[in-house]
Amino acid sequence: MIPQSFIQDLLNRVDIVDVVGKYVQLKKGGANFMGLCPFHNEKSPSFTVSPTKQFYHCFGCGAHGSAIGFLMEYSGQSYPEAVRELAQSVGMSVPEERDRLPPGQRAEQQARSVALSDAMTRATDFYRRQLRGAPQAIQYLKGRGLTGEIAAQFGLGYAPMTGRVSKPCSAVTAMTRSRPRWSKRAC
Ligand SMILES: [Zn+2]
Repeated sequence: MIPQSFIQDLLNRVDIVDVVGKYVQLKKGGANFMGLCPFHNEKSPSFTVSPTKQFYHCFGCGAHGSAIGFLMEYSGQSYPEAVRELAQSVGMSVPEERDRLPPGQRAEQQARSVALSDAMTRATDFYRRQLRGAPQAIQYLKGRGLTGEIAAQFGLGYAPMTGRVSKPCSAVTAMTRSRPRWSKRAC
């Protein structure tokens, strides 16, 4: 995520006339600049760029937007790519939201994602073990044309209907509570 305050600073620093002017030949006409619209085919200019409002507008096809929108539409860039290119052109560097996290919080986030994937692995192992011990489920899968290799490849498992395994894995239980501390107990 790019902070919105940075986008505002960037748009204040950039002049849309320069940005569009790199790709479209613009001529001053009154308060605005005019040119042939790059987004539709035309012989007389209906594409305008407003230096005061810092946006472009085409009276022919309705294309409209800021300097960021222009780059995205003109060169097919994604939003972050367009922001980065514009920032570079005025010597600014794009801060990422995650860079602003204090180190402690970042470590916690990392620990959380490790705990989550650990919980998922445990859950997968658990249900795969259940499948191995359930001949009727294996029979069902074979009936649907699935081999043991396919089941292994896609990590297929089986959830028995007995209440005995209603709490199959403490790690998974902990995961759903979205607490900062994670249960590390095995299933
Ligand atoms: Zn147009």
